[in-house]
Amino acid sequence: MRKLYIDFDGVILDTIPVIYKRLEKNQIDVTDEASLVQFYENLEWKSLIQEASEIHHSIACIKKIIASQKFDVAILTHVNSQSEILEKVAYLKEVLPGITIISVPKKLHKTDMVNPKNSILIDDFTGNLIEWDKKGGISIKFSLTPKDRGFPVIDRLDTILTMNYLNV
Ligand SMILES: [Mg+2]
Repeated sequence: MRKLYIDFDGVILDTIPVIYKRLEKNQIDVTDEASLVQFYENLEWKSLIQEASEIHHSIACIKKIIASQKFDVAILTHVNSQSEILEKVAYLKEVLPGITIISVPKKLHKTDMVNPKNSILIDDFTGNLIEWDKKGGISIKFSLTPKDRGFPVIDRLDTILTMNYLNV
């Protein structure tokens, strides 16, 4: 079974608009690296996850992918703080019991934590996909705007089940 890694922010939950709202509310100068780092380290993730909406039935799609037994699924997510890890794990354990969760410190690449060779990464951030591809992985862009980004683009996770060339 091919390994399939799924990103969290911007793929499973739409956390980014909620984070932007908080940046505005706290009047963070986004051009100031230090205050941005501090902001991310202190983000309160419990309410953030509650406020963020699920993207295109992501949880149901992941359940469907697991049930198909075509892929060995894990969640691979960048994190900025321990509270972010704890709250993401708490959420995922509840909605996807038994799922493997790998958190990647912001300073590292996803490819530092797992071997991408012949494995799939679904991610909304092209930087991650380029790095994944460079190290021998299979990159799939998750985007709600269907535009060619150099990688196959999907806007619903279960689309992966129709991409037969990925099955081994
Ligand atoms: Mg993302």
